[in-house]
Amino acid sequence: MKKSVVSKEYQKLQKDIIELQEQWKTSLDPDCVRPKIDKAAMEAGVPVTALAAIDFDISLFLQWIEDIGHLLSKYQPEIESSMQTIKSLMDEETAKRWIDEAFAFNYIYFAGFAEENGLDGWIPQFVAETVLRPYLQLTAAKIQDEIHHGVHGAGCPVCGEPVRLAQLEGEGKKVLHCPRCSAHWNDRRTACSHCGNNDHETVKVLTIEGESAAQIQICEECKGYTKVIDTRQYIVKPTPAMLDLNTIHLDFVAQEHGYKSAGEAKQTN
Ligand SMILES: [Zn+2]
Ligand SMILES: [Zn+2]
Repeated sequence: MKKSVVSKEYQKLQKDIIELQEQWKTSLDPDCVRPKIDKAAMEAGVPVTALAAIDFDISLFLQWIEDIGHLLSKYQPEIESSMQTIKSLMDEETAKRWIDEAFAFNYIYFAGFAEENGLDGWIPQFVAETVLRPYLQLTAAKIQDEIHHGVHGAGCPVCGEPVRLAQLEGEGKKVLHCPRCSAHWNDRRTACSHCGNNDHETVKVLTIEGESAAQIQICEECKGYTKVIDTRQYIVKPTPAMLDLNTIHLDFVAQEHGYKSAGEAKQTN
């Protein structure tokens, strides 16, 4: 196991970002997101946030960019000037575009934006994704009661993030949790959460030495993996984002074995 691959500093930064997002969320007007429940779209695997109306507040957006800049510069001082550049380029239209493109995982748009403006390639998408999350989480919290199951292969029913994390509840029920928007939904314990394969010959478990409460479910059909964490004994349950971060070494183990968090479509001949 290569727990050391993830530096302590990286984990600390991620933790600080998650805390910042928790703070930001409290400053959002609860009515700024208006999800629309469309059962047919949900059954077809369309994430709910794709159909939600979201009002962005440009002044909050600018404040949050400043907050991230302040945080990142503690780790990497030269980043401050990039954040100033982003702030100076930001207007309502660009902010809306960023949110749309972050939602669509459009890395090409962000790479282009970085290049045009002389920024490090990773910065714009990272910033956009970071400020998008509180909105996604607010959306998920509003409609959680309507979310019972997902569509295999479609990722999170609320935000579309690929599945990678589950927790055990009650008698050992598998509940998938999205580290991006915090939505949760049920899945069959023995099924692959990517392709739905329920064959015990090809859905297997990787156990991790020294970790009795964590295992990795893997699927030979789609090569997908899901971290399954038994948090039933935890006194305080971490948020999905924190649990995902604290178990990041399991992602490395799964990926080293050739599995992915987004399964591949089955090859049928
Ligand atoms: Zn999600
Ligand atoms: Zn599968």
